[in-house]
Amino acid sequence: MTLPILELAGLRKSFGELEILTGIDLKVTKGELAFVIGPSGSGKSTMLRCCNLLERPTSGAVMLEGRNIAASGVRLDPVRRRIGMVFQSFNLYPHLDALGNVSLALRKSLKLPRAEAAERAAAALERVGLAERARHHPAQLSGGQQQRVAIARAMALEPAVMLFDEPTSALDPELVGEVLAVMRELREAGMTMVVVSHEMRFAREAADRVIFMDQGAIVEQGTAEEIFGAPKSSRLQAFLARQA
Ligand code: ADP
Ligand code: MG
Repeated sequence: MTLPILELAGLRKSFGELEILTGIDLKVTKGELAFVIGPSGSGKSTMLRCCNLLERPTSGAVMLEGRNIAASGVRLDPVRRRIGMVFQSFNLYPHLDALGNVSLALRKSLKLPRAEAAERAAAALERVGLAERARHHPAQLSGGQQQRVAIARAMALEPAVMLFDEPTSALDPELVGEVLAVMRELREAGMTMVVVSHEMRFAREAADRVIFMDQGAIVEQGTAEEIFGAPKSSRLQAFLARQA
């Protein structure tokens, strides 16, 4: 059996008295695209944020490439470099152009020299179809292009896994497709991905596994056909009925 790249085991997270994640067990294997759905407030973002320790789990393990990174004493910087994250809001620096945004991440995280960072940043921008836009600042780019820059920035670090938290939710509908296309290409290139999204069509064509969360727990998981075509739990059935 192949070792999972990322594994959550008995993951719990409370904010004060409130338990938000109530014991998550999840394994993501190399090259897999795990697609997470669930109602607003069900803990999807908190789960992703626990994966790279933007939130500290209250208990449980976050195993990255076989090592529990939630254990005390683990240095976070090298771990975070192995996990790329793409948010709903692109979080680009407005005063830097696309190339500058990507190469700054490379210089900061990997301590690459300026010229090497710029070269690698240019290659990453080319992969997301933005070679021609490298010298544009965020304000000169559409939302879809800005999100592609954010994906290039995460991807350029060559992480072991990439986490996407509703990457297309802030976009006008006509810009969603170009971002999903980039994600599809990443998957085809073998990137391991955990994607929280409402794009059910994308899930059907690209997800290896769909995971349904509700009230801080994984209620059901399976292939897209199983989850969308033959949902078992009444909670998933009700959730899907509301999406239609
Ligand atoms: P989802 O991404 O599925 O919409 P979230 O993980 O954002 O859900 O939130 C799950 C629950 O945790 C919500 O009730 C939210 O209000 C709560 N929550 C998230 N972050 C915090 C925080 N930093 N402090 C307190 N409560 C939080
Ligand atoms: Mg969320």
